[in-house]
Amino acid sequence: MRDSHIGGPMLWPGDEPWPLCREPHRREDEGYAPDEIRTSRAAGTWPKSRPWPDAGAPGQDGSVPMMGLAQLFRRDIPALASGPDGADLVQIFRCPFIHGPYGERRYLLRWRHSREAERAERFLAKAPEVPLLRGEDELPEPCVLHPEEVDTYPWAEDGTLPASLIERIDAWDDAQTAERGCDAASYQGDLSIPPGWRVGGYPSWASTGPMAIGCEACATPMRLLLTAEGYEMDADSHSWAPLEDRDQLLQGKASMRGGPAVAQPTRLRFGRDRDLHVFTCPSNPGHPPRWVLA
Ligand SMILES: [Zn+2]
Ligand SMILES: [Zn+2]
Repeated sequence: MRDSHIGGPMLWPGDEPWPLCREPHRREDEGYAPDEIRTSRAAGTWPKSRPWPDAGAPGQDGSVPMMGLAQLFRRDIPALASGPDGADLVQIFRCPFIHGPYGERRYLLRWRHSREAERAERFLAKAPEVPLLRGEDELPEPCVLHPEEVDTYPWAEDGTLPASLIERIDAWDDAQTAERGCDAASYQGDLSIPPGWRVGGYPSWASTGPMAIGCEACATPMRLLLTAEGYEMDADSHSWAPLEDRDQLLQGKASMRGGPAVAQPTRLRFGRDRDLHVFTCPSNPGHPPRWVLA
């Protein structure tokens, strides 16, 4: 409760209501019980799907407990931008169900002053859960964090960097490939932006192309607060893979150890394996954040 982590218990004063999503939700055909997902993961098996109940289905009455995805303290992650009034703890939630005809998701940021929250007399023992989740990947696997500070560089595509610089980057990429073949480093994958969860830095625009994100309340260009991503490593950015997650006898891509526990430890997915960027307003962190899948 007092650590930064993905999944796991939130620092949540016992007298505060848990966030609910009250919008209408799409009905599913089948789902997975959270406890069965946990048991299956521990056993290394796949959970059994259950038919979606016809009556009294979760979400039909319009109040679904949000799923806590992560909480981050600035004491663990010094680069975490401040929330309203200097808040230093951010908690991130996602509604476990689908909204609207285009499969939209609803997210929530809850900022806190950690010292104030830690002074509560009692805390929520267990977060409320829906009886069925629509997918195994809706339930985060609790993961402690070992934050690492790294230098990052902008995504290199139309307008994010001067055209002449992008030309030089392309030429460098070509030279690397000619020299090292399939283990060659690339600017985009290995130098600019690491895979996985990250705080601050630059947005990646792999599926959308670069976008300007402005505050809907005051039109100020927004800053990237954090990025959530299901996969912590991939072959295209293998140089970021931690040494502890490599076979020391092998080199390059071949040295990456596989399996979900290493490559996708949180078990979460965002869109079709995209990056979920959370932008906040630098002129007033209390303005509504924007959630951008890219
Ligand atoms: Zn919802
Ligand atoms: Zn604003």
